[in-house]
Amino acid sequence: MGNEDCVFCQIIDKKISSDIIFEDNDVFAFKDINPQAPSHILIVPKKHIPRLSQVEKKDEAVLGKMITIANNIAKENHFEEKGFRLTLNEGKDAGQTIFHIHLHLLAGRRLMWPPG
Ligand code: 5GP
Ligand code: ZN
Repeated sequence: MGNEDCVFCQIIDKKISSDIIFEDNDVFAFKDINPQAPSHILIVPKKHIPRLSQVEKKDEAVLGKMITIANNIAKENHFEEKGFRLTLNEGKDAGQTIFHIHLHLLAGRRLMWPPG
C-alpha cells in the first residue's frame, strides 16, 4: 500500500497505468510520460522515499539494487554501445518535481554536458 498522495506510489500500485519495464519486490521501472531522450525510463524503489536527502542507512540495499536494475535495462537495450546516463534530481534547483525518489535512465541521443 503506497502513499495515496504520491503519483509514483499510485503507478507502483497500478492505480495509474504506465509502460512497465521491470518489477520485482523492491524496485519498479517504467517509461517516463514526457521523455527527454528517445529512451527515458524511471527506476524507483517500491518504498516511498521522498528524496535523496532523506535516504537512511537501511535504504542502502534498495538504492544499490536500483543502479543494478538500471544497468541491466541498459544492457538489455544495448545502451552501453553508445552510452547512457543515470540522473537523480534532489530538490528545487535540480528540478525535482515528484517527491518519490527515482533514477532517470536516458539514452538514444547525444547527451549534453554540463546538463542545463
Ligand atoms: P523529476 O523532475 O522529479 O526528477 O522527474 C519526474 C519525472 O516524472 C518527469 O520526467 C516526468 O515526466 C515524470 N512523470 C511525472 N508524472 C508522471 C506520470 O504520471 N507517469 C509517468 N510515466 N511519468 C511521470
Ligand atoms: Zn511514493
